[in-house]
Amino acid sequence: MNNDQILIDSYKRKIDYLRLSITDRCNLRCIYCMPENGIRLISRNEILTFEEILKIVQILVELGIKKIRITGGEPLLRDNFLDLIKETGKIEGIEDISLTTNGILLDKYLCKLYELGVKRINISLDSLDPIKYREITRGGDINKVLGSISNAIIIGFKSVKINIVITERLDSKDIRKFINLTLNNPIDIRFIEMMPVTGSDDSIECSSIGSIINSNITKLKNNTQSSVKEIFSIMGKAGKYFKVKEHAGYGPAIYYRIEGYKGNIGFILNDKNYCRYCNRIRLTSKGAVKLCLFSEREFDIKRKIRGKASTEEIKTELINFIKTKPENRECNKNFNNDGIIKISNFMNQIGG
Ligand code: SAM
Ligand code: SF4
Repeated sequence: MNNDQILIDSYKRKIDYLRLSITDRCNLRCIYCMPENGIRLISRNEILTFEEILKIVQILVELGIKKIRITGGEPLLRDNFLDLIKETGKIEGIEDISLTTNGILLDKYLCKLYELGVKRINISLDSLDPIKYREITRGGDINKVLGSISNAIIIGFKSVKINIVITERLDSKDIRKFINLTLNNPIDIRFIEMMPVTGSDDSIECSSIGSIINSNITKLKNNTQSSVKEIFSIMGKAGKYFKVKEHAGYGPAIYYRIEGYKGNIGFILNDKNYCRYCNRIRLTSKGAVKLCLFSEREFDIKRKIRGKASTEEIKTELINFIKTKPENRECNKNFNNDGIIKISNFMNQIGG
């Protein structure tokens, strides 16, 4: 059966991309993502089991999902994540499985991931300065990440992307070094505007998400704008740059390349105009389908599965739920006075 027309939302967007968060656990505590002392972890029996994940993915693929990005938390911390990727890859109809990781544990799994058919890897790295990197991640060892990136390029992954969340710590020296990486390496670096979301938890104040999230939306916007300006200025000094592609179906980044360079420089900005191209849904590690990062609304698919609902019933409810995908991020109503969006989950729980 051709499933191309099933998952269409009420704004005629075809939904074929799933962000699959396989754990909320993480070995870092990035300042914009998690509070310093962590959060209350989801109890093991609340996390989707291996079999439940496969069952849900099977249902979603039958409805039209074709591309899956495995994320977390830190996905490499999940027991048997390689087996999970292997079994997911066997589901007929999946065209692409990719991974987003902080890269700390990646090196030893690279060959196996490649063999399993993962050809696209996104690695988060917000600074090339070891001390700043340690501060932003609250303890990360940059050498492990750099080793993973080099080896991913050597092994020949089709796409290696570096995700750089723009923080106040990103300075011109860092920007220059990041841009330089694209001179001889076939990689994409992507500067990402920090999403002004903060989770909350009975036991944790939202303001514990570092000074950045504790700031206000105007300050965040101003910081992003001046960084973006600086990035373009440094690109201009490095050479003549041109726009390479837009909305190629894999996300909202806009890419540029400096003439003679091998890699691209991308931007992912918090702009509601990109929402019209949004083709994604998310499955959280505790089994909720989410239609938008900024939305509180969830479809508790785990409850349906554990409650032995029939596959047909689940499919019908999912199709109806997907019709309610908000037109854009600003349609969600949970902005606080500072313009920060408060949601009941932290980014590590939803899967960024
Ligand atoms: N642990 C893995 C990693 O860091 O790549 C995967 C999960 S992490 C939540 C996925 C991505 O979300 C990372 O690239 C991270 O930088 C990004 N992220 C987390 N919080 C964010 C925020 N407030 N704004 C923008 N990006 C964020
Ligand atoms: Fe962990 Fe990724 Fe969040 Fe950093 S961004 S704390 S690595 S889940």
